[in-house]
Amino acid sequence: MARALNFNPGPAALPLAALERAAREFVEYAGTGMSIMEHSHRGKAYEAVHNEAIALVRELLGVGDNFHVLLLQGGATGQFAMVPLNLLHPGKSADYTLTGSWAKGAFKHAKALGTVRAAANVEADGKFVRMPRQDELSLDPNAAYVHLTSNETIAGTQWHAFPDTGAVPLVADMSSDIMWRPTDLGRFGVIYAGAQKNLGPSGVTLVIVRKDLVESGRTDIPPIWQYRTHAEANSLSNTPPTFAIYMLRNVLAWLKEQGGLVAAEKRNREKAALLYAAIDARPDLYHCPVDKASRSVMNVVFTLPTPELEAEFLEGAKQRNMVGLKGHRSVGGMRASIYNAMPIEGVDALIAFMKEFQRRHG
Ligand code: PMP
Repeated sequence: MARALNFNPGPAALPLAALERAAREFVEYAGTGMSIMEHSHRGKAYEAVHNEAIALVRELLGVGDNFHVLLLQGGATGQFAMVPLNLLHPGKSADYTLTGSWAKGAFKHAKALGTVRAAANVEADGKFVRMPRQDELSLDPNAAYVHLTSNETIAGTQWHAFPDTGAVPLVADMSSDIMWRPTDLGRFGVIYAGAQKNLGPSGVTLVIVRKDLVESGRTDIPPIWQYRTHAEANSLSNTPPTFAIYMLRNVLAWLKEQGGLVAAEKRNREKAALLYAAIDARPDLYHCPVDKASRSVMNVVFTLPTPELEAEFLEGAKQRNMVGLKGHRSVGGMRASIYNAMPIEGVDALIAFMKEFQRRHG
């Protein structure tokens, strides 16, 4: 059976090379007599994988010595809580930019724990079609941090330039666009991402957190929720998701082989440009509701004129072995998620089908 062209939003397509490497090593890892899953997380075999995964994150993103790289559990949603648990001291307030479902999720979690402000809210008629402009932000200069969602996976919107928050650290949920391009980490206090889009399978959450914020983090919360616990133990305080981290290692090794983030950006921009051009070329049939300046390079959303045409489109795509194109139930339409692992040939195939669909519908 041929592998599908997988446009799933996450868990999402993984690089074939990373899967094949896992298949080769699945039953017996590197001559050790057992699979990596069966190794102790305190043994040498696993430890090497664990440290290689962290080293690859550091190398690919150019993470400086002033940051810890943590591999945690609980998903990005867990970080919605862990960020304020650690950084939002009593008496302080945090700023949140409300840009879509995920940003609202982060805001809601923080609100349950402390004082938060909406520094911007771009919701209009129940929809999110753009990211805020700098001049729309109402920033508290004394905020503990400013939270943003770099890419709204459902709305298909993305911050293309990060806002200036002065001395206040940025905290970013980069779940759906981490490592899509080189990123200057200078203004960030925390970056977190569930792995299951650009980094690997679900089950591991990457957290890159500035050392001074770990040190000054709250100590009056359970140790398991303190960043310092994981930083001090190199993310081995309790049993980590060893197989998910092994897969993350495979994915990042592949990404490095492909030329790292500079090459990834070039491929990603090319894929997105081709797909948006195909959508814009036929405004009678395809429509992208997102403002041009905020269009996501990772999640390309578009609609067709009627639910019937959308159903026909999805069915036709399925017959051509393309899956995962249905938009999120909250917004409808289509969504093509084209993360790092989606080859340009996959986007070409989708565009070829879009053109064929056009011909069929005049
Ligand atoms: N933030 C963003 C931007 C996401 O896309 C998602 C998942 N799709 C989440 C947070 C939630 O992640 P998790 O399921 O890992 O908790």
